[in-house]
Amino acid sequence: MREYEQHDVVDVVVVGTGAGGAPLLARLAERGLRVVALEAGPNLDPDDFTNDEVEAPRINWMSERLSGGDAPTAFGPNNSGWGVGGGTLHWGAFTPRPDIRELNLLTEFGVGADWPVDHAELIRYIVDVERTIGVSGPTGYPWDPEREYLEPPVDRNASADIMATGCARLGIRATDAPAAILSRDRDQAHHGRRLASRNLGTIHQGERFGTKATTANTYLPSAVAAGAEIRPDSMVHGTERDNLGRISAVVYRQNGQDFRQRCATLVLAGGGIETPRLLLNTGLANSSGLVGRNFLTHGAVQVWGRFDKQIRGYRGYPSALISEDFVRPDGVDFVGGYLLQSLGVMPLAYATSLVRGAGLWGNELVDALDAWRYTAGIGINGECLPAENNKLVLGDEVDEWGIPRAVVTFTPGPNEQSIDAHATATMTRILEAAGALDTRVLARTCHTLGTCRMSADPGDGVVDADGRSHDIPNLWISDNSTFPSSLNANPGLTQMALSLRTADRMLR
Ligand SMILES: Cc1cc2nc3c(=O)[nH]c(=O)nc-3n(C[C@H](O)[C@H](O)[C@H](O)COP(=O)(O)OP(=O)(O)OC[C@H]3O[C@@H](n4cnc5c(N)ncnc54)[C@H](O)[C@@H]3O)c2cc1C
Repeated sequence: MREYEQHDVVDVVVVGTGAGGAPLLARLAERGLRVVALEAGPNLDPDDFTNDEVEAPRINWMSERLSGGDAPTAFGPNNSGWGVGGGTLHWGAFTPRPDIRELNLLTEFGVGADWPVDHAELIRYIVDVERTIGVSGPTGYPWDPEREYLEPPVDRNASADIMATGCARLGIRATDAPAAILSRDRDQAHHGRRLASRNLGTIHQGERFGTKATTANTYLPSAVAAGAEIRPDSMVHGTERDNLGRISAVVYRQNGQDFRQRCATLVLAGGGIETPRLLLNTGLANSSGLVGRNFLTHGAVQVWGRFDKQIRGYRGYPSALISEDFVRPDGVDFVGGYLLQSLGVMPLAYATSLVRGAGLWGNELVDALDAWRYTAGIGINGECLPAENNKLVLGDEVDEWGIPRAVVTFTPGPNEQSIDAHATATMTRILEAAGALDTRVLARTCHTLGTCRMSADPGDGVVDADGRSHDIPNLWISDNSTFPSSLNANPGLTQMALSLRTADRMLR
């Protein structure tokens, strides 16, 4: 790997190596720019990943964040990337594409926000990402028949079979899910051989065979081959500015010591919590007053059915089936909609959700865990509207780097509650149609979005449609914080596409 001196003024420093940081890093390096990525977490060897949920949090941002509101966001393993690869080390690799209506919520319903991004252009970038990282899925996608996937879908597991049976009996369309999981071996440029799925269910714990696409086995090796430097264990906590107010360097801590890296341009890609936290702490790019505001998360309620036969949902790709029939359901009292995905889950994650999402404890919890092998689940990814009181601010406590901790408040509004209720009824019907003996609802949200949203109008967002700060011309953001609305589609694939788009805008 090429290494730069700290007194070198590199062209671009990128903070974070997840879905937002890595594709951009690779594209800029491939176009000949001198780029350095600073990553707070370690560079982990995939050979060290085990199918062990107790060890898995080392790939999660575990430094405490404070959470409030009526539905406090769960952090730790639920929501946070850490290490070279960021959130893609632990993501589920479920990769639906956003429908055009999802980008135009305000125009369609008069609430929420439109994306200042052209859908057809975004899809071109999404196709680029799908081909680069290896997305498998069904060609002849029911909700977009022209769509093609180069890789055939991965095998369905028992949870997917259950959901397929229930949907078929109710006339709901469902199909194999698009997933960044290989169904055939693949030689990945600058990384090497990645192996086709062996039907392991433990993909959230760190996946060692390269079956699941992460930025660590796709974009980052390409970035390094093109001359990028990646510095792990480097927590950015400050910035320096020149006389014109432009960023001239970033300050980061590595092994307890502070260093600075000079740069011509800075890209923040620390995710929906860390990017606004850094901006609030440094007082940058906030003329709109919207840094940390409009915190969005996806409705992610789950319904689990108990069956009279073993499901063993810990086997196989956990989210192998999708339905997009409820992206815009008829006759409802809410705006937007939701996606359905089948669920298999590991025992600790299930136990945590039983406690958090259903309030189980004691014997009731033990009995529910006893039934774990007999349960199949379905979950949603549901629209969330921006709301003034859902926000991230800095707290009074400081963390291990001396930065005030994030305090995140989230209370679902009437729209989120209506989506949850509709989806809960739908999922319960599907499981009952498939023969569930009984069902259980687990309340849940996931993903951290919207806290530095993009906008055409500088008064209405933190960055412009390209990802450039409205206030500071050499400051850009490329991560989930820029999402103006949550979308129904899970954010990872869209984020990688936006990352390439921002890189191309920077190169203009
Ligand atoms: C359990 C789970 C499952 C998921 N499953 C899916 C899925 O199936 N499909 C999907 O589309 N999406 C999924 N997601 C969401 C997906 O992982 C995120 O949308 C995506 O990773 C966000 O990209 P990002 O660049 O915003 O942040 P991340 O990918 O989280 O990257 C941020 C990186 O920045 C680093 N960083 C932060 N602050 C600093 C700092 N100050 N200095 C240096 N480095 C810093 C972090 O360590 C991290 O590596 C899942 C998320 C979770 C939590």
